[in-house]
Amino acid sequence: MGHCSSCSTGAGPFSEGKELVEFVYQAHGGSLRGQPLPNGGLSITCQGCAATFTLATFVDTCPACGGVHAVSPPRCTDPANVQFAGPDYQVP
Ligand SMILES: [Zn+2]
Repeated sequence: MGHCSSCSTGAGPFSEGKELVEFVYQAHGGSLRGQPLPNGGLSITCQGCAATFTLATFVDTCPACGGVHAVSPPRCTDPANVQFAGPDYQVP
């Protein structure tokens, strides 16, 4: 699967940051975001407050600061691919 930034039409599973979070949040008509991640989730460090927590679903929030994090299905096996929406982001 190639990625070409010059002909990209916008958000997709390989977007980053808030764009990726919003893509996953809306994916499959909103049904993807609450699906459990394979293998029991990803243990990550919150990119907002540095707390450690488990990302249990494709879109999940840090229990310490409420920071919204998400990962897309093609990349959900690597914690390095978890994207953070930003400190002021609230889910729609
Ligand atoms: Zn946090």
